[in-house]
Amino acid sequence: MKIKGLNELLIRRYSDISTYKKGEKYLKKGNILSIEQHGQTLCAMIEGDNRISFETKILFDIGGILDVDCSCEGANWCEHVVATLLGAINQPEMIKHRLDLKELLEKRNLDELKGLIIKISENNTDMEHLFVRYLSEIDAQSKSSSSDNLGKDILSSKISQLLTGKDGVSGGEGASGKEGDFVIVDSNPFAKKVKHIIKKYEGRPNTDDAISELSALVDEALEFVLNGDGRNALAVMEPIINIYVQQWMELDGSLGDTSLFFEDLDMAFAKSILIGEMTRDENRKYIKKIEQWQQKLDSDGIDNAFVLSMASLLQGWDDPILRLILIGEKVSMSVWGKNIPEYASLLTAIRLEILDIQKKYQEYLNLALHEECFFDYLMMLIKVKRPEDVVENGKRMLIYNYQALTLADELRRNGYLNEAIEIAEYGLTLEGASLSKLALWLSERNEALGERKKALDALIIAFREEPSLNDFLRIRELANNDEWPEIRNNLLTEIGKATLSKTTFNISDIIDIFLHEGLLNKAIKIVDKESEHYKEVLRVLDAAIKEKPEWVIKNACARAEEIFEQANAKHYNKAATFLKKAQIAYNQTKMVDLWSDYKNGLLKKHATKPKLMALLEKL
Ligand SMILES: [Zn+2]
Repeated sequence: MKIKGLNELLIRRYSDISTYKKGEKYLKKGNILSIEQHGQTLCAMIEGDNRISFETKILFDIGGILDVDCSCEGANWCEHVVATLLGAINQPEMIKHRLDLKELLEKRNLDELKGLIIKISENNTDMEHLFVRYLSEIDAQSKSSSSDNLGKDILSSKISQLLTGKDGVSGGEGASGKEGDFVIVDSNPFAKKVKHIIKKYEGRPNTDDAISELSALVDEALEFVLNGDGRNALAVMEPIINIYVQQWMELDGSLGDTSLFFEDLDMAFAKSILIGEMTRDENRKYIKKIEQWQQKLDSDGIDNAFVLSMASLLQGWDDPILRLILIGEKVSMSVWGKNIPEYASLLTAIRLEILDIQKKYQEYLNLALHEECFFDYLMMLIKVKRPEDVVENGKRMLIYNYQALTLADELRRNGYLNEAIEIAEYGLTLEGASLSKLALWLSERNEALGERKKALDALIIAFREEPSLNDFLRIRELANNDEWPEIRNNLLTEIGKATLSKTTFNISDIIDIFLHEGLLNKAIKIVDKESEHYKEVLRVLDAAIKEKPEWVIKNACARAEEIFEQANAKHYNKAATFLKKAQIAYNQTKMVDLWSDYKNGLLKKHATKPKLMALLEKL
């Protein structure tokens, strides 16, 4: 399968001019060492500057390019990605087609696979370690009789942690003691670390590093939350909060970051409370703890530092109204009664996150709907594979076009391209700042699917929002010959008027378009009274020298004289450049004498400005 909808203008859309040129040069000079395709992935090795090779990876689907990636870690569409894609367009015979991993594995028997794993592990201890841990985890899991869904999820999350190199639950530091089937981490190291960090940054004016080190500790608790392990999350959070509450004043809080950090602590603690089961005694113990912490903080001037955690402890998941909401009963009341606190939406967001981790998707949908978290609701509908419901509800629930774009992209990534396109089309009717991006997205998908007219219409919408020569040229390519004159005329008139009345358009792009189309007068109209865009003014002066030398003389001289009048020596070089254009224009009109008269006049008038005189004499 080829990458659909791929063309040079698409590559130019996402890479800047110099990157594109570099990529083009790599292709011409044979810097593409290899291109391979397996399934819907294109991988290439590109020799960059200084003979360093980079690996690019292009993912695509029937809707065109999905993601691009390169080992250079530069701009997303770097020169190596450009070279790869240009190679795919212009030299497709270079691409070696391979079966994808699944197809290749299916052809092997068990002994071959064993041999392969041993061979890979022989010279690579990291891989060996990975296989040993991965397979041991599977053994451990299959022995465990209580293989409920959550257990499986924890295993799969552990495996993904192994594969991504992040340490999982069992590798937690200072693990000791046992409670039920869980290993409970030793809290002491965390308390010590917090003390150490506070000591290290004590009295320093900038607390950013201290907060980021403390946040890393909180992240360890959040890892446990992700694994559904509330006990260990609490075992990590409690000492962190305990010590921070006692000692935080030793950090310089003049920037406010150290007091804001209580919000992070509260969020993480609330998550740790809500992810696990808790006995009544434990619940009471934590309520008491929070009261003690708050008592200390009252004297430090921090109010209500742990509102989310306290509400989590008081309501838990057992609040009668919450329970009704979760099972999908129509409830007109709120769990908060009449006075809904400001932080209610934050607690809802935490509850949704926890329900997602616990894979309680129906409860998630019920809560999101009741609390009017419509975007979360729609995203969850994708996760539970209900794309038709996303379309139906999306048309009622979406408010902004950027929401439609995110939703459409998520639908696509989950394999629901038709529904994605329907949502994107609807999104074009919504307000927001992403109309152009959404229209481009829609145009590209339609191009990949061979829907020329739809791709054209969407691209025109994108162009009207953010005109560029690149998209103008693509519109030309997509339009039929009989459609083109009218489209061209309308678009050029429109952008000309719009540029003169509003400034949101990029003037450089508009000048590009007008000069490309040979519409010198329109370009002149835009820069005629323009006082800022120096480079664009010069480009139009250059372009007009042959056809409109009189305008160049008038405009360039006026600009130079204005700078002289202001006697702003900083801009004398600019003035000299304008005069140079005027001089060339004089030559063009064969009025060389008039130029020297004009120049001499200036020399006389500004005889007292030596810097200026030196510049004038060079002309
Ligand atoms: Zn690169």
